[in-house]
Amino acid sequence: MTPEQRLLYLDAMGIQVWLPNDAVAADGVVVEVASPVEEAVAEVAPVAPPVSAPPVESPAPPAPPPFMEEPPAWDEPPPWYDEAAMPPPSAPPPMARNAPRSAPPSPPPRPAPAAPRQRPAPPPVPEPRRSVGASVGWESLESMVRDCTRCELHRSRTHPVFGVGDRNATWMVVGEAPGHDEDLQGEPFVGRAGKLLNAMLWAAGFAREQVYIANVLKSRPPNNRDPRPDEVEVCIPYLLRQIELIQPRVILAVGRVAAQNLLQTDEAIGRLRGRVHTLRPYGIPVVATYHPAYLLRTPSQKRRAWDDLKLALRVHGAG
Ligand code: SF4
Repeated sequence: MTPEQRLLYLDAMGIQVWLPNDAVAADGVVVEVASPVEEAVAEVAPVAPPVSAPPVESPAPPAPPPFMEEPPAWDEPPPWYDEAAMPPPSAPPPMARNAPRSAPPSPPPRPAPAAPRQRPAPPPVPEPRRSVGASVGWESLESMVRDCTRCELHRSRTHPVFGVGDRNATWMVVGEAPGHDEDLQGEPFVGRAGKLLNAMLWAAGFAREQVYIANVLKSRPPNNRDPRPDEVEVCIPYLLRQIELIQPRVILAVGRVAAQNLLQTDEAIGRLRGRVHTLRPYGIPVVATYHPAYLLRTPSQKRRAWDDLKLALRVHGAG
């Protein structure tokens, strides 16, 4: 703006400007004169040229989120859909504000109705074993056992142990196999265990001579080990023939081995005792109890053995 223009503006705004006389030229032309203040300031510090600040760029308006640009198609996932970051399909997807509503998840299929519980099939019942034959009498049977070589036990035995007692007895006792004393004497249930058996029989009302006593095996297994199944298989027909000949009212099976082999089962003696079984194919009642040798080691079980004897007595009385 020129000084003349400035004066015109100030005059138009009603502002009187004082001018020194020397500022007006003789021809009436106003001469540009600096004010005393301006002069003083000019003398102290020269006026620096104005520095123009760099233009501030105004921030660009935020770009609309991608999903606002254009709604996705109904059959497409929204743009923010990160398939890799999504939870497994089993979890419901989070609701998106602008995402199209998806159809509600279909309910899981109903589980098929549970099949009715079925009890495990019982183990197959083995065929009943057979005796050596109905034509074999006592003398022949005893001779067969004396000369038997059906299994290896005949090599190590001292004497075969055939059986003792009344061949017309109504009460029969069956044990597992001869032990050391039985092998030496050729008679079942001798020694301490034999004495306890005699006492048990006596308590039940029988003398030893009034019952018949025999074993599943007729020869002693070495070191008193359990009879092997193959040994039982070839030897038990002798015992079955004895049972056929005696036809007792009741059989008292003493010990696990005797009870399991007579009844052809793997059940423990603790589960076999306390009830009446049937010897197939003869239909003869069998009561199982603990072996006298076990009762000598575990006297606390004698009460249960006595219960078994009473059960056998009831069966015997009903026979
Ligand atoms: S255990 Fe029985 S089958 Fe074996 S040798 Fe003795 S009597 Fe014969």
